[in-house]
Amino acid sequence: MPKENALAVGIDLGTTYSCVAVCHHDKVEIIANDQGNRTTPSYVAFTNREHLVGDPAKSQASLNPQNTIFDAKRLIGRKYQDAAVQEDMKHWPFTVVSHEDKLKIQVVHKGKVRSFYPEEISAMVLARMKQIAEAYLGCSVSQAIVTVPAYFNDAQRQATIDAGAIAGLHILKILNEPTAAAIAYGLDLRNQDGGTRNILIFDLGGGTFDVSILSAEDSIFEVKATAGNTHLGGQDFDKRLVAYLADEFKKKHKRDLHQDKKAMQRLKTAAERAKCILSSCTSASISVDSLYHGIDFHTTVTRARFEDLCSDLFRATLKPLERALKDARMNKGEIMDIVLVGGSTRIPKIQKLLKEYFNGKELCKGINPDEAVAYGAAIQAAILTGNRTPKMQNLFLLDVTPLSLGINTQGGVMATIIKRNSPVPTKETMEFTTTEDDQDTILFMVYEGERALTKHNHLLGTFTLNGIPLAPCGVPVVTVTFSIDENNILTVSAKDVETGNTSHLTISDTRGRLGKEEIEKIVQAAEEFRMNDQTQQEKIEAMNSLESCTLELKRVAEEQVLDIQAKRRMLEMCESASSWLEGNPLAEKEECEQRQKDLEQAWDSICGSIAQSENAEGAMLAEDQEDHTAGADGAKVETQAENEMQ
Ligand code: AMP
Repeated sequence: MPKENALAVGIDLGTTYSCVAVCHHDKVEIIANDQGNRTTPSYVAFTNREHLVGDPAKSQASLNPQNTIFDAKRLIGRKYQDAAVQEDMKHWPFTVVSHEDKLKIQVVHKGKVRSFYPEEISAMVLARMKQIAEAYLGCSVSQAIVTVPAYFNDAQRQATIDAGAIAGLHILKILNEPTAAAIAYGLDLRNQDGGTRNILIFDLGGGTFDVSILSAEDSIFEVKATAGNTHLGGQDFDKRLVAYLADEFKKKHKRDLHQDKKAMQRLKTAAERAKCILSSCTSASISVDSLYHGIDFHTTVTRARFEDLCSDLFRATLKPLERALKDARMNKGEIMDIVLVGGSTRIPKIQKLLKEYFNGKELCKGINPDEAVAYGAAIQAAILTGNRTPKMQNLFLLDVTPLSLGINTQGGVMATIIKRNSPVPTKETMEFTTTEDDQDTILFMVYEGERALTKHNHLLGTFTLNGIPLAPCGVPVVTVTFSIDENNILTVSAKDVETGNTSHLTISDTRGRLGKEEIEKIVQAAEEFRMNDQTQQEKIEAMNSLESCTLELKRVAEEQVLDIQAKRRMLEMCESASSWLEGNPLAEKEECEQRQKDLEQAWDSICGSIAQSENAEGAMLAEDQEDHTAGADGAKVETQAENEMQ
């Protein structure tokens, strides 16, 4: 039997929720967390005592909004000045600060102001997913495939890889989310007869929207086109509902709660819950006690109202759909399967719009929309680590570039070198020349985007090629090569054909990536966090142990100790330990242990005296009995002595 290679997991690192899956014993398993949930909130919270990740972080969000981080995926690989960051910041209860040419998230942790890169926050979520997998598999997990939205640019992909490194995970590949979903879906197609199937993946999650069109033939997938909107999803629907509810509160109670971060966060939680209920019921009641200045808020929202509030957002999903079809050069009729992915595709109106767009075609809901991406990532992970199951033997996957890539040429015109939706890995070379006589240097400006003029596209970085031999303009020949590896990471190089001089874009210098040293520092900090968590855990265990010891001794003393003095002493000690625990939530482990030891010793000494008095009583009783039985025993001894003599 072939030896099984080290397991690698698939992680859907979502904007709002994350999910981890593994391909194990010939099948894919979605791994539930310790709360039994198959998806884990991508939330990290900092408190006076500890840092929390996942469900516990989300559930305390309304009590600690400034120090509860979500949406790190919206910040990863971005700059502080980005318009999207500036816009998002208006809605976040936590603080984002500019840091050199990057950004950081500022929180108060254990009473101190601390700031973290988005990579560090994502790393905490990844570390949690790793931990969930390790608890289930019972072994350490050090490799993963992590998924990202199709529209993530190079910097965002790089930063995700860095987050993996900080979490102690080697990222085997960064996979586009819709591609992962298609892989999951593709497995289910394995038995269908021949021919090409065109599949449309409609992925509407918490924060991002991706449409992709794939062709599947004999288990070979090709991504034909991807389109999307990095800023459309369940959170936007929640915001609309929150705004509506806050207005209603204002109308009813003449109070504006917009500035109260805690109240807004609590309203958001209630709104999200109501939104999910509205996917299966036509109305949902909302009830938040003491929402603002002691005022309770009770109201009902109908599905019709919710649909009306979000109608433009819902319709906005159709544009990328049209674009993807156009890019794939397909018409609606050529799409055979429409696959729903992402929690927000449970919204009936979204399903209705999509179905109508495809002239009444039935939608595929066979894949659990929250889990499909992690499911596909786990399959990809198994393929890359040589752990293919028999069902995957023929599965081969192609991925595409999400945006066109090129350089700036005369007049600010974009010369596209790699077209959008090109299968990756890929490598393309194009020839360029000088624009001035005796020009010995060329500045290359690398862009991504679809617009004809580079000023409308996104600048990825610049580099120069020096030492070009002097010649009239148009004579020197310079080749520019764009190469994209399997992680969609780009390297651009330029070569002067005559001299062989080369120069290339060093991605780590120009993409706002964290430096190696910085990553190492962060890894160290993450390790400190782990140690702190362990210390915290031990502290909590010691406190719990002291508490249960106190309760137990109190119960036993009340029930068993007959000596009034001893009982009083024991109960007083238990009472004192209880109130000490209550008044010292930050007590150290050693202090708890010492108090427990004192209690136990006191109890032992009481038990000792009870035993002594029982022994004394027992001895007296025995003496009494001895008086009655002495004759018989004496006779016996005598008999024994006789026997020995014989
Ligand atoms: P995902 O990113 O795929 O995990 O999707 C998360 C988003 O799906 C969140 O905004 C959730 O509020 C939303 N969601 C989950 N379940 C439902 C539901 N039943 N109806 C509407 N939205 C949902």
